[in-house]
Amino acid sequence: MSVSLSSKSCSFCGNTIRFGEGRILVRNDGSMLYFCSSKCWKNMLVLKRDARKLKWTRRYVKGGIKVSR
Ligand SMILES: [Zn+2]
Repeated sequence: MSVSLSSKSCSFCGNTIRFGEGRILVRNDGSMLYFCSSKCWKNMLVLKRDARKLKWTRRYVKGGIKVSR
């Protein structure tokens, strides 16, 4: 398995993270989360907010989250 050193996108807001920037969290199950800033880190891990409800993230869903059936 090769790990790309190219840019990643933030696991919270979706913004591109350049290599060497941001934070990486490795979970106990081996999955990795990337954060572009401590702001995103805090929102996901401490505040446990939903990125789809925050206008400053790329994951924001205009008009609210659509529930698919
Ligand atoms: Zn971010």
